[in-house]
Amino acid sequence: MSLPISSHDVLAAAERLRGVAHRTPVLTSRTADARTGARLFFKCENLQRMGAFKFRGAYNTLAQFTPEQRARGALAYSSGNHAQAVALSARLLGMPALIVMPGDAPPLKIRATREYGAEVVLYDRYTEDREAIARRIASERGMTVVPPFNHAHVMAGQGTAALELVEQVREIDGGGLDLLLACVGGGGLISGCAVMARHLLPDCRIVGVEPEAGNDVQQSLRRGEIVTIHVPRTIADGAQTQHTGDLTFPVMQALVAEIVTVRDDDLVAAMRFFAERMKLVVEPTGALAAAAAFTGAVGVRGLRVGIVISGGNVDLARYAEFLAGTPMG
Ligand SMILES: *Cc1c(COP(=O)(O)O)cnc(C)c1O
Repeated sequence: MSLPISSHDVLAAAERLRGVAHRTPVLTSRTADARTGARLFFKCENLQRMGAFKFRGAYNTLAQFTPEQRARGALAYSSGNHAQAVALSARLLGMPALIVMPGDAPPLKIRATREYGAEVVLYDRYTEDREAIARRIASERGMTVVPPFNHAHVMAGQGTAALELVEQVREIDGGGLDLLLACVGGGGLISGCAVMARHLLPDCRIVGVEPEAGNDVQQSLRRGEIVTIHVPRTIADGAQTQHTGDLTFPVMQALVAEIVTVRDDDLVAAMRFFAERMKLVVEPTGALAAAAAFTGAVGVRGLRVGIVISGGNVDLARYAEFLAGTPMG
């Protein structure tokens, strides 16, 4: 059976990203270990450039553009981390970028994307179809659309997070991992990480984590076909995808043992833990994988567990509200 990406693609992505992406730290916490009875290794992609792992996949994709594609530039439609990842990657590679964003996106995000040098085109999310707008502009200007997860180069780039995690865990104590936990939106992160982890640690179980309200991939894996859901109501805005993709899905079918879910309350409790105990700012989506270990949604007792903290971009006022809520256990 051949999958859309292999471990060679991830290793090639790591070469492209060398000296460009941060080799983000892997942190441990005695408190978290004591609470869970496990040995947890947190891969801190909240400390990645632009604040999330998305930089890896975007840069790996843009870096492989032909000279013709480079001249015309990259186009993305996103209100979140993917937009900033494409904008920053384009600036670093000296090509134009255009981002299609909803007019009611947080002004801070629009400004941040412009500050990375991208042109921002706003649309009305209630009356206009962003994919149609993106397609029209892309064809008018000859720009290349960069999808947020369903693309082999994006998936391979995201997999470099798992490559580093496995290397860094070895550097810490010489050991491997029994379990790898990663959040799942469209599945770009977990599919890249799963391919790499399976190659390096054939016995490592790979488990994905979705918000309870947005468990489209859990449903899809159970049913054996891609299921589409309504836009889920969850604070995990990076995992509000309605359906996975035809490239990510077969990788998850082949390599992901199961998908577990956590509730928004559990995300808030995990964000509080990271702030209080580990001095880490983690966005709600970034806390999904850790929350699954903390709540017992996935059994971790006695195991060595790699956990990807996927991002740290959260509006400060909202963040303060989250932290002011009820403390964790
Ligand atoms: C995009 C994103 C996700 C989801 O990643 P997929 O590759 O779509 O599964 C998770 N966390 C953060 C912070 C993100 O930006």
